[in-house]
Amino acid sequence: MTIPISGQTLSLKSIEKINELSGESVNVCMQCATCTGMCPMAQEMDFSPRKVMHFAQFGLIERMADINTYWKCASCHACSVKCPRGIDIAKVMEALRQQVLRTSKNYIEPSEIPAEVIAEMPQIALVAGFRKFTS
Ligand code: SF4
Ligand code: SF4
Repeated sequence: MTIPISGQTLSLKSIEKINELSGESVNVCMQCATCTGMCPMAQEMDFSPRKVMHFAQFGLIERMADINTYWKCASCHACSVKCPRGIDIAKVMEALRQQVLRTSKNYIEPSEIPAEVIAEMPQIALVAGFRKFTS
């Protein structure tokens, strides 16, 4: 079921998918912004974790398609341990990444990384990055 709202499309199917992939319920978020206050990456994000939770509550997948928030998320779980509603927000961010990666889109292209960067980067960082950013 989809409902048009202010030029966006509210998708109940998308909400269900985010909840299914994350194992969480974005619906219970009360928009307190504690997650944003805890997030060490918030300054680097297009939209704060609170705002992304708001998008997720309405299933606004299209709105979230080109934002960097869930790619910048460091999966540190600082937000998750403080959320008063017990939501593991890091898992929601992972679910949003998975929705993109499952369409076979890569966030970074390994073949486009310069050889000098590959030579200098710790191998474990490269492997972790490929796991997170490639389909
Ligand atoms: S801390 Fe939890 S309840 Fe508060 S805005 Fe973030 S996700 Fe929602
Ligand atoms: S898990 Fe992600 S969203 Fe949550 S505090 Fe860490 S970097 Fe921010």
